Order: sequence, then structure tokens, then C-alpha cells
Amino acid sequence: MSDAQLQFREELIQHGLLLPMGVDGLLGRSGGFERIIEGIDRCATRLGKDDGAEVLRFPPAISQRTFEESEYMKSFPQLAGTVHAFAGTNDRAHAELLAIMERKEDWTAQQKATELVLTPAACYPVYPTLAARGPLGADGALLDVFSYCFRHEPSVDPARMQLFRMREYVRIGSPEQVQTFREMWIERAKALMTDLELPFALDVANDPFFGRTGRMLATNQREQTLKWELLIPITSTEKPTACLSFNYHKDKFATNWKLQQASGELAHTACVGFGMERIALALIKHHGFDQRTWPTSVREHLRL
Ligand code: ATP
Ligand code: ZN
Repeated sequence: MSDAQLQFREELIQHGLLLPMGVDGLLGRSGGFERIIEGIDRCATRLGKDDGAEVLRFPPAISQRTFEESEYMKSFPQLAGTVHAFAGTNDRAHAELLAIMERKEDWTAQQKATELVLTPAACYPVYPTLAARGPLGADGALLDVFSYCFRHEPSVDPARMQLFRMREYVRIGSPEQVQTFREMWIERAKALMTDLELPFALDVANDPFFGRTGRMLATNQREQTLKWELLIPITSTEKPTACLSFNYHKDKFATNWKLQQASGELAHTACVGFGMERIALALIKHHGFDQRTWPTSVREHLRL
């Protein structure tokens, strides 16, 4: 936690852009903030408009089965969020629940797991959906997804929320197809940030893998440059914030969900993720709290 993060959060709340909801990383958004998000969404659509991506929209949860198949718990047990609900079937169980709440004891221990797990990354529901269609055609597949995502990483940093949105394009196909896709999106993202007059840098990154094996996984991911991030200074210039990521999963997801290329070989996958709130916060930081005062060309690019 840094003073700069706390201060920026306070300013965003003072200007009414974000609304505190009583838990770190859980924030409401104003209409003005949402207009910025919609502008970024339009830019992402425009950049990909000639590619013919199939649009899919999923609610912000996946099935427990899909979650297990993703092997998320091997890498990020600290971030996952499961949905639990009251499982009582009679008045006695209900009365017990209310009595526990009345005594201000932990009533959540009574809750039982539903079959839902909160979506950790917008692209997760894509893989089992595509695998269910059978082997890919020669062109592979290209999907466009947009979802709220959950990660249990409470923070006062307004750029690190527990519930935030990711717009993603996901490419599934041969190693060449997905690598070409990733390189193309890195170039497109750089051009977009230039249009939006935001300072940025690209860097190799790693996911926040858990524990001792996690450190090995992170090193491996970096050595193979499987993850690139586009970083923008928001509350720190020394530690700029990852606002987009460009991930190459090789055949990991295809293995988990048995995604085949036309040849029968396992597919490779890659995704580009737009961190919608982070890009909005970067725009606010660099151009001001009132979007009406932003540079005209930036407003035009966002169609604000
Ligand atoms: P970080 O390393 O900052 O935790 P990440 O590398 O785990 O992020 P990805 O899994 O690549 O993030 O997620 C895609 C994009 O979603 C990121 O580039 C970022 O812009 C955004 N994002 C990730 N975590 C958060 C969060 N807690 N709050 C807001 N946006 C986020
Ligand atoms: Zn993804």
C-alpha cells in the first residue's frame, strides 16, 4: 500500500467517479466512469473489427467442473472465489441460521458450495465451449469476450480491485497462428496508447503463482516470454500498472480442455486482455478527473 494509491482512491471518490462499498477492492462506478469504460470498449472493438471474431458473452461465473479443469487451484489458490448459498430445506434450519446471525456469530460456516465459481479471467469459459464443438477448422478460432472477473486480492489501490472487467480477444489454433495474433495485438495496443496520449512501456511479466513451485512457474513463464504486459504509470512511475496483457498459454489450456487443431494435434492458445478499469484510471490520472477537459483528440478516439 502506498500513500499515492490511497490519495488517488480518495480523489476518485471525492470526484464521485468511484463509490466505496465498505470492502477494499469493491467499488461502485459513476455514469461518468462508465462512459470512459464504454469508450475503451469501442476502441477495442474498432481495433479488432476486421478480424471476424465471434462475440461471446458469459456471466461472471463458471461451473465448478470448468474451474477444476482449469487447474487454477494449482497456481492461484489465493485468488479464487467460490459461490456458497444456504442449503437448508426446512423452517428449523432457517430458524437456526437466523439465530446464529442474531448472536452475531459466523453464519457463513452454514453456507454450502453451489456449483458456481467466480470467473477469474474472462477467457476461461471460452475453452470448454470451443472444445465441445470438436476439432477446429484450418483457420482455428477467434473469440471476443468481456466479463467481470473476481480475484481475492483486497487492496486500497484503486487499480487493484476484487471485481473488475476484462475485455479479451482469444486466439486458438496452430503455434504460428496464435503467435502472429499476439504480436499483432501488441502493436495495436501500442498504437492505441499513443492515440490516447498515455505514456507506456512493454515488459515481460509473470502471473502471481502461489508458493514455492509457483516461483519456478513464474521463472519459467518469464524465460519463455509467455506473458507481456503494457504498463502505464498510474500511482507510481517506478512501478507502473499492467493495463493490458498478452498471454501465450502454449498448449496448456488445450490439454486441460482437449482442444484439437484440424490435424488432431493439441491447439495452442493466446489472449489479449484489456484491463478496463485500469485503462480508465490511467486516462483519468493523465488527463484529469473531468473528461470534458480531456484533449479533444483523446475524446474523439474514445467517441466520448
Ligand atoms: P497483476 O500482475 O497486476 O496482478 P495479472 O498479470 O495477474 O495482473 P492478468 O491475469 O494478465 O493480470 O489479467 C489481465 C488484465 O486484467 C491485466 O493486464 C490487468 O489490466 C487487469 N487486472 C488484473 N488484475 C486486476 C485487478 N485486481 N484489478 C483491476 N484490473 C486487473
Ligand atoms: Zn485470457
